[in-house]
Amino acid sequence: MADTTPWHHAPVPVVAETLDSDPASGLSASEARARLQRHGPNAVPRPPPPSAFARFLRQFDDLLIYVLLAAAGVTALLGHVVDTGVILAVVVVNAIIGFVQEGKAESALAAIGDMLAPRARVLRNGERQELPAEAVVPGDVVLLEAGDRVPADLRLFEGRGLRVEESMLTGESVPAEKAPEAVDAAAELGDRFSMAYAGTLVRGGTGRGLVVATGGATELGKISGMLADAPASETPLVRQMARFARALTGFILAICALILLLGYLAGRPLGELFMALVGLSVAAIPEGLPAILTVTLAIGVQGMARRNTIVRRLPAIEALGTVSVICSDKTGTLTRNEMAVVTVATAEDIIEVSGSGYSPHGAFQREGVDLDPASTPTLLAMATAGALCNEARLWCEGENWRLSGDPMEGALLALAGKAGVDSALERRRQREIDAIPFDADNRYMASLRHDHEGGHVILVKGAPEVLLPRCRRALCADGSEAPMEPEHWQARATAIANQGQRVLALARRCLPGETAELRFDAIDELTLLGLVGLMDPPRKEAIDAVRECQNAGIRIKMITGDHAGTAVAIARQLGLARPARALSGADIDALDDDALAREATATDVFARTSPAHKLRLVTALQSAGEVVAMTGDGVNDAPALQRADIGIAMGAGGTDAARDAAEIVLADDNFATIAIAVKAGRTVYDNLRKAIVFLLPVNGGESLSLLAALLLGLTLPISPVQILWVNMVSSVLLAMTLAFEASERGVMGRPPRPPSEPLLNGFVLWRIAFVSMLFMAGIFGTFTLARTQGAPLEEARTIAVNTLVVMEIFYLFAVRYLGQASLTVRGALGTRPVLLAISAVTLLQFLFTYAPFMGRFFDTRPLSLTQGFGIVLVGVATLIILELEKLLVRRFHRQRREQRPEATP
Ligand code: ADP
Ligand code: MG
Repeated sequence: MADTTPWHHAPVPVVAETLDSDPASGLSASEARARLQRHGPNAVPRPPPPSAFARFLRQFDDLLIYVLLAAAGVTALLGHVVDTGVILAVVVVNAIIGFVQEGKAESALAAIGDMLAPRARVLRNGERQELPAEAVVPGDVVLLEAGDRVPADLRLFEGRGLRVEESMLTGESVPAEKAPEAVDAAAELGDRFSMAYAGTLVRGGTGRGLVVATGGATELGKISGMLADAPASETPLVRQMARFARALTGFILAICALILLLGYLAGRPLGELFMALVGLSVAAIPEGLPAILTVTLAIGVQGMARRNTIVRRLPAIEALGTVSVICSDKTGTLTRNEMAVVTVATAEDIIEVSGSGYSPHGAFQREGVDLDPASTPTLLAMATAGALCNEARLWCEGENWRLSGDPMEGALLALAGKAGVDSALERRRQREIDAIPFDADNRYMASLRHDHEGGHVILVKGAPEVLLPRCRRALCADGSEAPMEPEHWQARATAIANQGQRVLALARRCLPGETAELRFDAIDELTLLGLVGLMDPPRKEAIDAVRECQNAGIRIKMITGDHAGTAVAIARQLGLARPARALSGADIDALDDDALAREATATDVFARTSPAHKLRLVTALQSAGEVVAMTGDGVNDAPALQRADIGIAMGAGGTDAARDAAEIVLADDNFATIAIAVKAGRTVYDNLRKAIVFLLPVNGGESLSLLAALLLGLTLPISPVQILWVNMVSSVLLAMTLAFEASERGVMGRPPRPPSEPLLNGFVLWRIAFVSMLFMAGIFGTFTLARTQGAPLEEARTIAVNTLVVMEIFYLFAVRYLGQASLTVRGALGTRPVLLAISAVTLLQFLFTYAPFMGRFFDTRPLSLTQGFGIVLVGVATLIILELEKLLVRRFHRQRREQRPEATP
């Protein structure tokens, strides 16, 4: 823009002219394409990711690596050039492994970010369109609605109760009221009420605006450097383990210092002692653990994304395993959201409607007799009202009718077609002047239009409870209007709802004069046209998922804005535990917090609720000790989603506001996906636990061996550089495979994990201690045996190292099933990552043992076939001992369960 008038100060016509656009119809498709070429995609440029080299260097930023580098320095000073070389080489190899792992984790997480790409609604060629926010260009007309994230900087030219939260730009969390009137040129960002800025959130109302800036040119783009908002890539568990590793490091270093001092006082050769202590540090510090945990989480997130669950905050994965209650929306999540009108109730008749999908072909029947819609004026009036108070669009693609918009409105358009009403024609003839969009708090929607006679008419559709009290009269078959009989209509609505149908009332109000604006208080003194009943069957997969969750000790609660009758009927079909009892929004309002906590726990169906009730429900269930997952899609659901332990937003039908507040987004809005996510969450947690249970005993066994040797003054059974090799190459490679483990059988057969349960629980601690001892026995046993048989030191050490690695390989098989038997066909076959890692480690071990250059570095000696055979035998024995241990632990648990009286029904 050449002139100096700022957008917020310029009048709308000037803005439109400057942008060469038309507020009424938007840009043409070709012009939009040309502008996209010129201005580039509407995306805030991100700071470039750190270069590969910088990421590689970052691998060296670790306490243990510093210790090792210092050790390399000292060995070089002492003239042990080979040791220096080995240490440095192992450090580099370890950095490469870490670099690859981290790359894998990062690309997994980056792909998730792409799945959450925002969308925008614009007017092009005079038609509404939804497109990726990236495709928005200057001059586009953007339509805003409650819950949207504003896609670009807009000069508003229309607004109805538009409230926008701009905290990310201004820090102000109270939404600002927006209106098209130009504001003072000197107004600060927060006072430019005629503008809506990219990245801010529409909290209420609707509006339209012209795009004045996109991408890097927006106010958001100008400060994008400030908001490099890295999604939290850490979880409580990873933090806890990192803290554990740091504490352990400090402890080990202190012990090393002590041993060094004692050794010095005892006059032992310092160089040798120093190397032994380096070995001990390497042996004891589980430095690879945090990285492996992060990778495990990232792999889990990636797997979930493949199955339609987008994890926005990593800690959610851990929390998923603790969920004890899932509160789910009914419509669209538990049900298919493919609606069809099956009942029409007029003042006189109940009419049944047939047909399939959204096709406008079908028949009407009254008491089993075919009915001609053309001779039923009330039916025609209802069909027309349903088509006009409606924002959806149907079109035909080959044989199939497709819908854009709300499924219920699609069903009403199909109904109009069946009744012979041409919706498109009517929409043109009775042009819309103004509208009140549907919102879950009001539960109705209204449209103000020109009517055929040159007057104005308000058409309304909504929940019967809301609309019936506002109707004075009802339309009769002969076209006259009779006084309303509320009881009669209420009874009809309940009867339809009890069949599991969603009930909608249609009404109108003719206005004599001109009205330009539709206000809420105009929705009164209506004439009721009739009721429609819509069928929305449960999803088949949801029924299975409900059963699976219930087996997993998770309660499913259904929350809906629908009538209690509808809700109860659907709850029965879904197989909820207690479908018969429904708590309504009004019931909830009447209860105090304590009573609600009790009632909410005892009830599974909540009907006629509004979003505010969800927040109270979450809070009540949490106060009763439950870990709550809650679904939501609307802007008003955000507080409940935030409050829930796991907020689950709808990716296909939900608002940006809900998505922002949620931990998890369902790409397909399907309840069954939640069950899959819970299972995945439990599996990932298991895998984290497996990685820990795998790695810690290896460290434990090695450090116990070294410590014992040092304290008792024996020869070290494994040399320090050999320990370095095992820990930083073999162990890391093997542990990595656990990130890819599939769910164990029975993950969904056990109750949720108590959130207070520590990761290192009794069982885990026992397993770590037990296996540490086993490893120590293996290392010392084979070493001592070889020595007593007269093997030279180097050969005995080679045997000990190989035994350690072989035991690790067999232990990996044992760990893959924490509680269950591993000696099964499935267990023995392994997975691709397991087999790959084992092949790699075996190959490396052969090199380590037989390659002359390795022999020089690590002081190894080639072993005989018999010796190799003996080592493998030790591995097999390890696996058998571990299986016996599992058997005993299982029996122990069973006995304990049987002793507890409450467990036996
Ligand atoms: P749910 O929680 O099951 O999705 P909603 O809050 O969407 O329920 O709807 C509650 C009630 O509001 C419905 O039973 C229906 O009567 C009414 N309603 C829903 N959608 C619309 C709409 N687009 N226009 C008018 N009324 C609607
Ligand atoms: Mg809904």
